[in-house]
Amino acid sequence: MLKRGPSSTAGVNRGPFLTPDVAVVGAGPVGLAIAWRCAQRGLRVAVHDPAPGSGASYVAAGMLAPVAEAYFGERELTGLLTESAGRWPGFAAELTEATGADIGYRTEGTLMVGLTADDLAEARRLWAYQQGLGLPVTPLRPSQLREREPALAPGVRGGALAVTDHQVDPRRLVAALRGAAERAGVLLVPEPVRQLSDVAAGVTVVAAGCGAAALTGLPVRPVKGQVLRLRASGGGPPGFRHVIRGYADGEHVYLVPRDSGEVVVGATVEERSDVDISAGAVLRLLRAAVDLLPELAEYDLVETVAGLRPGTPDNAPILGPLPDRPGVLAATGHHRHGIVLTPVTADLITGLITGEGADEPLLTPFRADRFRIHSAGSEQSREDDAWN
Ligand SMILES: Cc1cc2nc3c(=O)[nH]c(=O)nc-3n(C[C@H](O)[C@H](O)[C@H](O)COP(=O)(O)OP(=O)(O)OC[C@H]3O[C@@H](n4cnc5c(N)ncnc54)[C@H](O)[C@@H]3O)c2cc1C
Repeated sequence: MLKRGPSSTAGVNRGPFLTPDVAVVGAGPVGLAIAWRCAQRGLRVAVHDPAPGSGASYVAAGMLAPVAEAYFGERELTGLLTESAGRWPGFAAELTEATGADIGYRTEGTLMVGLTADDLAEARRLWAYQQGLGLPVTPLRPSQLREREPALAPGVRGGALAVTDHQVDPRRLVAALRGAAERAGVLLVPEPVRQLSDVAAGVTVVAAGCGAAALTGLPVRPVKGQVLRLRASGGGPPGFRHVIRGYADGEHVYLVPRDSGEVVVGATVEERSDVDISAGAVLRLLRAAVDLLPELAEYDLVETVAGLRPGTPDNAPILGPLPDRPGVLAATGHHRHGIVLTPVTADLITGLITGEGADEPLLTPFRADRFRIHSAGSEQSREDDAWN
């Protein structure tokens, strides 16, 4: 897309900042990773955001879960999740090397569990589907589960291990990406972009999460998620090591332990755009969490927070050129998966910008032109049109 090729002296642009080659709208994980990658290729990059890291990533749990998140009817998305998860070890190592930051990347794996017989039956349907895709899901008997995590409730009926599903701390990730991008010469502009025509750059990348709809007319909608953060009393690490995703009396809940002692308990999925915390949601999340891991009742409740996932009609991201908008690329709509999809998104969008990845087949299912794009925000997918 841009004539300027990869630079072997990779991108520390310390001189006067001229019109950028690339303007990125949005300093969440997606926008910052794209900016970092582009600057590494010798491009001049500016990132516009009045509040970097304040979007969905501030709330996200940080599960890198291509297996546990492989749902019925989302085959192509599962392929992209798997591809990106495979890039995470290298991405995490490179980011840590570039910044010295600990981003909380952990690889113990994920235990998926069912509390009651009904919960287990529901979980097993999904595991069978995931195994059918060739994904690594290892069923475990209750005794095997408790060997791995003795703190699990004695009543948990069964589970499975997704050994390749890992985790990272999204707040640390964004801080590290910002540091890496700035070190590579990226300019941060602490202002919102009100319309794309205000941005002067060779290429503009819209990586504004839920803010993308107003800027582009793309069908990106807010999907609210409420999350709790607990902390082991006494300041030690939590009493379990794996990410635990469970069904507990019909409630879905996940528990993400961090070395800092924090445990993220999530999350609701609501078609709403407010970020209020409801007592009912806190109650349901806590009850399900404690049903699976009784010791959590002794932890401190240190944060309740809600965020807005950038959802799309098919739950998959929108990656690539906007039809009829020359020089504008979308990197948005990452919904529940923006953290795990950060590495692959950054690589694919950078490849489009440099021209080296223009024919990348991975992009095909995620192009913007699979949706009808409206200017006034009443967007609908072609798929929706077919149903109506
Ligand atoms: C409760 C919850 C749990 C989640 N858990 C996970 C998980 O475990 N794993 C996972 O992979 N994903 C998870 N996600 C999803 C993930 O957080 C998002 O997909 C991801 O943050 C998207 O990244 P982004 O950079 O596109 O957008 P965001 O993180 O939303 O960042 C967008 C940025 O754009 C800026 N912006 C918006 N409009 C403008 C504008 N007009 N001008 C300038 N800047 C603008 C905002 O200030 C913000 O900084 C979760 C999300 C939620 C809410």
